[in-house]
Amino acid sequence: MTDQAPYQPDVVEAKWRARWAERGTNQPDLDAAQRPFYNLMMFPYPSAEGLHVGNLFAFGGSDVFGRFRRLQGYDVFEPIGFDAFGIHSENYAIKVGIHPAELIPRNIANFRRQLERIGGMFDWRHEVSTTDPKYYKWTQWIFLQLFKAGKAYRKKAAVNWCPNCKTVLANEQVEGGACERCGTTVEQRFLEQWFFRITEYAGRLLANLDGLDWSETTTTAQRNWIGRSEGAELVFDLPAGGGIKVFTTRPDTIFGASFMVLAPEHPLVRQLTTAEQRLDVEAYVRSAQARDIVSRKVGDRDKTGVFTGAYARNPATGESIPVWIADYVLMEYGTGAIMAVPGHDERDFEFARKFRLPIVRVIAREGDAAGTPLESAYVDTAGGRLVNSGQFEGQSVDVAKTAIIRWLESKQAGKGVVRYRLHDWCISRQRYWGPPIPIIYCDACGAVPVPEADLPVVLPPIEDYRPDDSGVSPLARHEEWYFVPCPTCGRRSRRETDVSDTFLDSAWYYLRYPSAEFDDRPFDPARTRKWLPVTTYIGGNEHAVLHLLYSRFIAMVLHDLGHLEFEEPFTRFRAHGLIVKDGAKMSKSRGNVVVPDEYIAQWGADTFRMYLMSLGPFQEGGDFRDAGINGPRRFLDKVWALVGDAAREPPGDEINRRVLIKWHRTKRKVAEDIQELKYNTAIAAMMELLNALREENCVAREVVQDLVVMLAPFAPHFAEECWERLGHRTSVFDSRWPEYDPALVVEETVEVVVQVNGRTRSKVTVGRDADEETAVAAALADATTRRFVDGKVLRKRIYVPNRLVNLVVA
Ligand SMILES: [Zn+2]
Ligand SMILES: [Zn+2]
Repeated sequence: MTDQAPYQPDVVEAKWRARWAERGTNQPDLDAAQRPFYNLMMFPYPSAEGLHVGNLFAFGGSDVFGRFRRLQGYDVFEPIGFDAFGIHSENYAIKVGIHPAELIPRNIANFRRQLERIGGMFDWRHEVSTTDPKYYKWTQWIFLQLFKAGKAYRKKAAVNWCPNCKTVLANEQVEGGACERCGTTVEQRFLEQWFFRITEYAGRLLANLDGLDWSETTTTAQRNWIGRSEGAELVFDLPAGGGIKVFTTRPDTIFGASFMVLAPEHPLVRQLTTAEQRLDVEAYVRSAQARDIVSRKVGDRDKTGVFTGAYARNPATGESIPVWIADYVLMEYGTGAIMAVPGHDERDFEFARKFRLPIVRVIAREGDAAGTPLESAYVDTAGGRLVNSGQFEGQSVDVAKTAIIRWLESKQAGKGVVRYRLHDWCISRQRYWGPPIPIIYCDACGAVPVPEADLPVVLPPIEDYRPDDSGVSPLARHEEWYFVPCPTCGRRSRRETDVSDTFLDSAWYYLRYPSAEFDDRPFDPARTRKWLPVTTYIGGNEHAVLHLLYSRFIAMVLHDLGHLEFEEPFTRFRAHGLIVKDGAKMSKSRGNVVVPDEYIAQWGADTFRMYLMSLGPFQEGGDFRDAGINGPRRFLDKVWALVGDAAREPPGDEINRRVLIKWHRTKRKVAEDIQELKYNTAIAAMMELLNALREENCVAREVVQDLVVMLAPFAPHFAEECWERLGHRTSVFDSRWPEYDPALVVEETVEVVVQVNGRTRSKVTVGRDADEETAVAAALADATTRRFVDGKVLRKRIYVPNRLVNLVVA
């Protein structure tokens, strides 16, 4: 042992934070970089609580990757910023009675302090906040580009309205008919809203997914959200002329369409309803409008509906079938009307049972007898054949789909079409805390865009920013701001009072980071060419759909309008896992939330980072247990002592073979594991190397030095200090990732004798110390061995590691 000073994390970490700031260690030259690597992490929403452990897990893991790439010789740009507009911030500000314009900067200052404390390789010169007028000037500029290109439009739409939050909610913000934030029952309202035409891009957004290196879970979520379906648009004629248009993905079931259902809001309802049914229909329409959209979509309720008194003609059977209305059909999907096929659709089946409508089976499974009782709808998955279907009788579902579309096309009763589940993006929010949408309404000129030279439309600092029941943004109450001359004719006009969705703020922030210092352009062409698209993006899968999809859409539009050379912003995306505490989800109500500051104060940022990264594979997450943090700390203490010993040792020590092989294999394994984001196994491998060094009493400087470099992405301050103690005068991050000697990492193999019933029959090669499963599998895969065991039953197996497999057969 030595008499060196013990490891003191607080001293070491404060020293290196100051050094990095002073030397600009984390500030790449963005214009001169030779090998640019844009390492992006999803920017945080600056809550009042500060960074939680899940944030630190995400940022820590992303930072490990960025630092690793830097050690591999890349010019790594790792920016950070704040997603600080939006309803979360505003609601919290209302709750605590502090204006968001005062509260948010405080929260950001706290976040900044925490992010600096954990030792992220952030280039603070390029920090952005979405609430900064210098930033949202360009958010508004993007809106104008879409508006001018016809990609932004206004329409009256049914929306979910939370009477408590006093705002529109997206469908995914409604859970079981209630607001996800406050639990209030959601109502339906009709409001004028701004939309972006993302549905025009559905096909491209879907097709491009194939070319992206993204987490599979994320691309799957996007595919499902976009929801491409092939089907047919069919027309059911009405006796008085005209017809009802429906979209179906199952044209093969048309012979089973025994009634039709329209959404209560369908424009034909009024015209079709007969005099006898009028009162019932009107009452039903009113009750349906009182329901929120989400609970209407959930299929578990008792079916309700009413007959219109009208009939339409099934184009396949020629029969007249009744037309009903029911709230399980929504205007926003398809055409707002369906052909009901109760034999093969659960909801239609329940509806038909309840209202005693005919149920016809038109697809049969293999072996189904005719007249199988209709206990439930039979939803065909594969292999069904058509029955009760005229000339298509006996055809497989797949063949019939195409044949029936062609037949109906020839009768001019329909056509094959592709549909998407994706809707246009509603970007209007009737709230205060967001960028005002840059539109002016003039009685003579209509909706006039604010001239680009007049941007930003600054959010006025009003005291009374609380929303009310009117559905109109609080900005309308601020008259000096609200009334403004029309940019075209000068007439007194009114500003748009809706602000835009926070998802628009975050849909382009990655473009701003490299160009954050330019005030005359949103993103500089040369910078953008050098740094984009983003090389690696890391974030949570809760943003798999909306944020990532909206960002891709905005990039695609900007590309089409000539502002960007690429159309996909994120080359590689990895979703990180989640951290639980003692096996349970962390939540305030459980009282098990890990407050990172306390741990960092006690253990230091490096130990905390090491611990978080050792909890499990980065993409899966892990379980935080207080007892566990000791392990990484003890490890760092031992490395600290080892560095002290190595620093006194002259270089060029003889290294024994066991250490030599372990050293080189560790270098390979740690690099491979970090590449795969398996930080936990990378840390385990370094711990094994340390153990081997201690067991062999090896303090060879070359080995210890490599260990310090490998540790640097995980424990950056610690590694810097150790590097300096080993005599270096430059940052460890200006050194290079250690190379391994390929000759020393070759897996050692052994030949194992294979016996069958005690007699030697063959030999197989397996890795040294292979387990029994592996050795027996190798023996059974061997052609010579198989001649003696094929057709016999394996009774017993005996394995002597590295020497022998004996198979006992009979
Ligand atoms: Zn609410
Ligand atoms: Zn005008």
